[in-house]
Amino acid sequence: MPGVFQLALAEVAEEAQQACDLGLQAVLLFGIPNEKDDQAKSAYADNGIVQQAIRAIKARCPELVVITDVCLCEYMSHGHCGVTRVDGEHFHVLNDESVALLTKTALSHAAAGADLVAPSDMMDGRIGAIREALDANGFDQTGIMSYAAKFASVFYGPFREAAESPPQFGDRRSYQMDSANAREALREAALDLEEGADILLVKPALPYLDILWQVRERFGKPTAVYHVSGEFAMVKAGAERGYFDERAAVLEIMTSLKRGGADLIVTYWAKELAEWTRP
Ligand SMILES: [Zn+2]
Repeated sequence: MPGVFQLALAEVAEEAQQACDLGLQAVLLFGIPNEKDDQAKSAYADNGIVQQAIRAIKARCPELVVITDVCLCEYMSHGHCGVTRVDGEHFHVLNDESVALLTKTALSHAAAGADLVAPSDMMDGRIGAIREALDANGFDQTGIMSYAAKFASVFYGPFREAAESPPQFGDRRSYQMDSANAREALREAALDLEEGADILLVKPALPYLDILWQVRERFGKPTAVYHVSGEFAMVKAGAERGYFDERAAVLEIMTSLKRGGADLIVTYWAKELAEWTRP
């Protein structure tokens, strides 16, 4: 995607410093490991890429809130978000085995200094399991931003390429939500809250503004929205063709996300927005 790059570990502290200098309050980390396997071992290794990045950022900018993506897909050789079993033509994602590895991953992020962990996998029961493990290990101050409503979406395409994690077989529809199903999203959000989520996240953004609004209104909890890679790419492409002005389009979209109830916005335009909205 234009202007979006993977960073080497050596560059991450500098990027964090820039974010701090611009007045941004938080960053969300995704890792791309050297090694992938079918147990996602690099996801919870003490010297894993995200664990090292957290330490590097906290050493340079202790006040910057570090949120870490907690999932297994980038670390799995097959690219799925959990442990899988293949029977002939069918594959299954094994929920409890996956939750155990996700919990290990979240704990290792907390131990490295993450302020919030953000499980994006959509397995059942993972928020409760992670909350319990964090509390039991002295990380009761580490928060959880839950991907409460993550819909199966065509708009994830560019990110999957960037994160080198497209599934090698099957797809993720068995554990992501059907875009037609609003009630399921609200049920999932309620469950995540019950299990101990501190922030509820809705993803993607613009096609799901109704969900964002309902989650914010119904639960009254801090609510985040993730303006995803495909949504970013559409605006970039439109602006490049001269259909509209990028800055005006982005400001209008971000305003709509705030109006729709977002307390936090995850966006690829964070640095530009910090400049554009500087008082
Ligand atoms: Zn995943």
